[in-house]
Amino acid sequence: MEMMSNDLLIKNARVWPSADAEVIEDASILIKDGELIRIGKFRARANTLIDVDGCLVMPGFVQTYLHLCQTIFRGIAEDMPLLPWLKNYIWPMEASHDPASIRASAILSCAELIRSGTTAFMSMETVRHTNAVFEAVQETGLIGVICHCLMDETGGYKPLTVELEESLAECDVLLDHWGDHERLQLGVAPRFALSCSGDNMRETCDYAREKGLLLHTHASEQIPEVELVKERTGLLNIEYLHSVGLTGPDVGLAHCVHTEPHEREILVETDTRILHCPSANLKLASGIAPIPEYMKAGLTVSIGADGAPCNNRFDMFMEMREAGLIQKPRLRAQALPVADIVRMATLEGARTLRQEKEMGTLEKGKRANLIFLSPDRFHVISSKDPATNVVYSHEASDVMLTMVDGEILYEDGRLTTIDEAALRKTVVEQRQKLEERAF
Ligand SMILES: [Zn+2]
Repeated sequence: MEMMSNDLLIKNARVWPSADAEVIEDASILIKDGELIRIGKFRARANTLIDVDGCLVMPGFVQTYLHLCQTIFRGIAEDMPLLPWLKNYIWPMEASHDPASIRASAILSCAELIRSGTTAFMSMETVRHTNAVFEAVQETGLIGVICHCLMDETGGYKPLTVELEESLAECDVLLDHWGDHERLQLGVAPRFALSCSGDNMRETCDYAREKGLLLHTHASEQIPEVELVKERTGLLNIEYLHSVGLTGPDVGLAHCVHTEPHEREILVETDTRILHCPSANLKLASGIAPIPEYMKAGLTVSIGADGAPCNNRFDMFMEMREAGLIQKPRLRAQALPVADIVRMATLEGARTLRQEKEMGTLEKGKRANLIFLSPDRFHVISSKDPATNVVYSHEASDVMLTMVDGEILYEDGRLTTIDEAALRKTVVEQRQKLEERAF
């Protein structure tokens, strides 16, 4: 019988180590200092014992495309196409943020992410107050790549225009403060092809690569956007982003709904990461991204909910379900099998964050980022296949526990790092003040 010091033992679990593994029935997991020490059928004693009574224990979800700063805008404008929606509602609200309102939006986002089983994410914030987002996320215990957004005069929206020098100086300050944080990293996000000049895009890529930071932007979400890029640059969206350096394994391109075959070749040749947002693509009538084609071509594709104003939830279960359903009438019923979808939501997400050696599966030596799913809900029982259940049966309310680095962030309906009552009160107050400032 193994005896360990400050550690945690999970027992009586149906452990599902990864999308491609078999479930280990009646298994245990030993965790020490937030790291997975042992997984399988064994007996041990530990300081903390969690008997999960048959719950499915799997890797936490990794969402690679979110806007935490937009969550407090939820419901601000519905049933509108992308460009007028952005210009008339989202950008005015973003430009009106202050540290208090963006903090409330970030914590609200984390509350929903934790409750619905997401343990790590990448987000694109706005052009100011990114430090307040870092501070907020740090308190919640989540793992995140938080990208500072860049827009210069090219973006054509003065209230969100920041000179490149000032933006990169802000990144320097953020790096000084958060550069060696154990859970949070800075990323850099020129908003989209038309938000910054070509020279500024190139300089931004050089800066990010010099600092070893991830890059992230929107691409080919809607046809009017693609046409506008063509009109302004003479190139198609992916061609243009490639010409300014925004392709490569350190680049996450959100959406990629409308791409030409030769653009897909550029994505494959450069091993650029695709961030798939099924709900946002449907809600803004953008279209259906050719995800099975991207995956068949060997591209790393992961999933994200985008922003709450165009989703309107951060629910990875819903995103996985939709990712599967939308491809079937487009291609065939076999398109995008369930294991592929779960892999997108876990390991491929981790790979996109360059953290596949630390998370995305449950393996010895990796971070203890895991979720417990209730085994006895009516919409699940009788099916024992984890992938099918997770993609087409389970829902966010089935999450019983969320753990990051061995720390329990959510258990039995209660967040442990966020004061829920205070959050509800603050969000309502800050939303009102924000709307008064914006409109
Ligand atoms: Zn977006």
